[in-house]
Amino acid sequence: MSKFVDDFMAELTAKNPNEPEFHQAVLEVVESLEPVIAKNPIYRKMKVLERMTEPERVFLFRIPWVDDKGELQLNKGYRIQMNSAIGPYKGGMRFHPSVNLSVLKFLAFEQVLKNSLTTLPMGGGKGGSNFDPKGKSDGEVMRFCQSLMTEMSKYIGQFTDVPAGDIGVGGREIGYMFGQYKRNRDEFVGVLTGKGLNWGGSLVRPEATGYGAVYFAGEMLATRGETLDGKTCLVSGSGNVAQYAIEKIIDLGGKPVTASDSGGYIYDEAGIDRAKLAFLLELKNVKRGRISEYASKYKSAVYVPRDAKKDFNPLWDHKADCAFPCATQNEINGKDAANLLRNGVYVVSEGANMPTVPEGVTLFVEKGILYGPGKAANAGGVATSGLEMSQNSLRLNWTREEVDNRLHTIMRNIHKACAEAATAYDMPGNYVAGANIAGFLKVADSMLDQGVV
Ligand code: NAP
Repeated sequence: MSKFVDDFMAELTAKNPNEPEFHQAVLEVVESLEPVIAKNPIYRKMKVLERMTEPERVFLFRIPWVDDKGELQLNKGYRIQMNSAIGPYKGGMRFHPSVNLSVLKFLAFEQVLKNSLTTLPMGGGKGGSNFDPKGKSDGEVMRFCQSLMTEMSKYIGQFTDVPAGDIGVGGREIGYMFGQYKRNRDEFVGVLTGKGLNWGGSLVRPEATGYGAVYFAGEMLATRGETLDGKTCLVSGSGNVAQYAIEKIIDLGGKPVTASDSGGYIYDEAGIDRAKLAFLLELKNVKRGRISEYASKYKSAVYVPRDAKKDFNPLWDHKADCAFPCATQNEINGKDAANLLRNGVYVVSEGANMPTVPEGVTLFVEKGILYGPGKAANAGGVATSGLEMSQNSLRLNWTREEVDNRLHTIMRNIHKACAEAATAYDMPGNYVAGANIAGFLKVADSMLDQGVV
């Protein structure tokens, strides 16, 4: 580690103790930015990176709600307003027991750079709660969402901060939160994205993150004159991002063979086809069941329960060409990364945020595989949220084809921006450096333009 990176990280760690995920996300970016800072001392003089790693504002609040048994429950609520240099704060809400300040700050920091890459005018934010939606009734989820929004509606607004979904937050939760915002503030505005189609949502928003990650893989493959057609793909997760990554892989002629949840994964040697995907969508979105049920239904699949004692995830240990991690952060450790390479995987496109640990990232970059980091590869979700905001402002709805074409163009442009930035700084093919540099420059220059704020 260089002295610049070392000093920066020592100060950041001292100021933000006990936030390992946040430190991890910042370290990767600071390392990539070293040549940029060396070439442009103004960023250092104006403490742009220091300011960028300090949220503009953090809200931490209490969420009391009453469960179906009439008992009072209490959760923590958060909203991190990280950076508004290029637009209103924008970023999802995550409901998961693992949510804490470190996780949300890492996500908010990555979101700033990601949103900058989308070419749309959106700042970065993130929020959520340690609430676990698993096993809760619709009524419990609604009362929780209403209590959360009663408080959060004081901080957000269509021109201030526009939340969306993330882990544990899909159409149902966005609906309950939107309803309560409208009730509290008495205004029908596009304050959340991922809304239902009847009340301001955009076509293709549910599909956008997964589709985008696959489009990004397609762009990377195109640099070698290849396509996804005929490629075997490992996918993790079975939520929103994984479902539509699988759909787009099938559309483009690829063969998805895995899907997972926190209980384990399925490996379907015959491939997940459209009928099996329809079953998976019903299982996860309507029945809210477990991925193991897929293997009970389809004999071509085996179910492998998660074994916490294993120091690797066997999902990443199958012969394949491409991998789409679409579950959560740090789901590919160093051993998993090595297993992927050993099994012939040479395309990794991250649907999830920071799914690969630093050791794995280094391995992918060193081996020169086509590796699309989350902040570039999964930017299609927030980009389409940006398109939903545009449609809300115009009071118009674009067709599915129009939105999908715009999404595809944005992913193409993100790929191009990352590739060009990497080449400009003598790291051709390094999409990690490219994404960090391209995302940073637009925000940093906007911050300089706006003075010491
Ligand atoms: P989701 O619909 O809630 O699905 C999450 C999936 O990952 C589920 O299958 C879940 O299994 C699994 N998972 C979550 N935490 C896990 C853990 N600790 N260990 C193992 N499996 C775990 O969420 P999503 O929207 O698809 O988000 C997935 C990833 O994509 C996240 O990293 C998110 O930040 C990122 N992302 C999402 C969007 C978006 O538009 N939604 C945009 C950009 C990036 P269980 O159901 O068993 O928990």
